[in-house]
Amino acid sequence: MVSEKARAKINLTLDILGARADGYHEVSMIMQAIDLADTVELEKSSGGISLEMDTTKIIGGENIPCDEKNLAWRAAIEFQKFCGENFGVKINIEKRIPMAAGLAGGSTDAAAVLRGMNRLYETNLTDAQLCKIGEKIGSDVPFCIIGGTCLAEGRGEILTQLTPIKKFDVVLAKPVGEISTPWAYKTYDDNPAKIHPPNAEIIKQFEHGNYDAAFKNFSNALENVAIKKIPAIAELKSKMLTAGAKVALMSGSGPTVFAVTDEHNVEKISQSVKDSGAQVFVTKFF
Ligand code: ATP
Repeated sequence: MVSEKARAKINLTLDILGARADGYHEVSMIMQAIDLADTVELEKSSGGISLEMDTTKIIGGENIPCDEKNLAWRAAIEFQKFCGENFGVKINIEKRIPMAAGLAGGSTDAAAVLRGMNRLYETNLTDAQLCKIGEKIGSDVPFCIIGGTCLAEGRGEILTQLTPIKKFDVVLAKPVGEISTPWAYKTYDDNPAKIHPPNAEIIKQFEHGNYDAAFKNFSNALENVAIKKIPAIAELKSKMLTAGAKVALMSGSGPTVFAVTDEHNVEKISQSVKDSGAQVFVTKFF
């Protein structure tokens, strides 16, 4: 049996550079892994692929499919195809990452299955090979394989690993409601925002340890689209900033808002959103 931590991600920035012929968007995003994670356990099996999920810790988890529509199951299929072997696997997932939240909950389970099957069957695939398999499943899967801090370009699958940054504390607030990623991009296309985070500048600021300047530059091109659907996003941001967050921004296509902070402000920021109806998580950069 092997066990993998499937960590969530946040988008420190999200820039949309344009629509592509393949239906995706050309993006440029600074991605950060965080310590909030599902646990994915894998066992060899002679009976093909099977999946069990414990979703009691998350809201709405009963709606996640437990068949080949699940990204973890799809990862096992793609792994078998790539290796040309009928590797059977029993997958057990304990979910902690809220779903449809902009935290890559499904993608990270898929990434954990790819990493885990590589260990279980001692197939010695490189990270680059695992990422190639991962990009067939979803644009965020390669980042979830690599983790840390990365610039993600193309449709999100072209990764440049960045120098590790300080492990700041993070408070997440997931308001009631879900946003589907295709809906967010489609709505953005109808009314493109003029928000373009200066990613190259931010990366330089990180390299110089100039974090406060970098935080001022964080932005997410999909945030205004999401706020129109879920106005609580703007309210959460404002509360977290008033409570002393260094930056408070929506992650991915939302609706989760993350606040970056030093440890001493974690409690105050958590308290500031605790009566808002949002689910609150305390975590950190990983
Ligand atoms: P992203 O940040 O990559 O857009 P997200 O966090 O917004 O992802 P997910 O949590 O991955 O969204 O859920 C999106 C959809 O994927 C849900 O409708 C869910 O049913 C489906 N899904 C498939 N497999 C999984 C999984 N292993 N865990 C969670 N959701 C899954």
